[in-house]
Amino acid sequence: TERTLVLIKPDGVARRLVGEILGRVERKGLSITALELKTADRELAGKHYAEHEGRPFYPGLLEFITSGPLVAAVLEGPRAIAAFRQIAGGTDPVEKAVPGTVRGDLALDGQQNLVHGSDSVESAEREIALWFPHLARS
Ligand code: ATP
Repeated sequence: TERTLVLIKPDGVARRLVGEILGRVERKGLSITALELKTADRELAGKHYAEHEGRPFYPGLLEFITSGPLVAAVLEGPRAIAAFRQIAGGTDPVEKAVPGTVRGDLALDGQQNLVHGSDSVESAEREIALWFPHLARS
């Protein structure tokens, strides 16, 4: 079994899509291990997106991700990381995400694309430690 850190970004909460997105997660067969509604401060958002520091979209991304409440979750299951990224669809909701995915079905914008999911075991453990310190391993 594997863990992944998922965010339903502020656009997802504002558009009242939390149930829709978590419903897809549950129907896929992933388990929700931790779940919290919170508003990220700049410190947390900056650490979460540290790999994008210096990119042209980084300031706007931090502005967006701290703009209101989001849902942070730890999901667990076999191949949970890839399974959630399949549910999410590609980063660009129009060019990459296909119909049937969260982004392909429900999003249009390259920044406000509803969800985040860890992209590797290393990222997942780093991100879980950031968002849910009590669940950090080693
Ligand atoms: P996430 O990390 O949120 O799951 P991802 O792994 O699919 O998304 P990344 O390339 O890591 O995509 O980008 C992180 C986030 O930064 C994207 O989900 C999106 O919100 C934002 N982003 C990425 N590229 C752009 C861009 N060119 N313009 C605006 N926002 C962008």
